[in-house]
Amino acid sequence: MSIPSEMACKELVELVTEYLEETLLPTDRQRFEEHLKDCPHCVIYLDQIRQTIRTLGRLTEEDLSENAKQDLLRIFRDWKKEPPTGPTVTCDPK
Ligand SMILES: [Zn+2]
Repeated sequence: MSIPSEMACKELVELVTEYLEETLLPTDRQRFEEHLKDCPHCVIYLDQIRQTIRTLGRLTEEDLSENAKQDLLRIFRDWKKEPPTGPTVTCDPK
């Protein structure tokens, strides 16, 4: 039953900029989209990245620093422990 190529949230976070820039390999893109079907957290994450891009006009690797990625992965773990109460990943507060 297990799919060896199943994408983890961590990998999705790593690939999100390439996905949005459409520079992802077709195989990775397919795995990315497959993951989104099963993982509402990553859908929310992707949506927030899109909003960030709309706000900033662009997104670079520097905007997604290693620390930010680690924070997100911690949030994903918390989401799995508790029922989701809505997105807790915020962009720059207004
Ligand atoms: Zn995920």
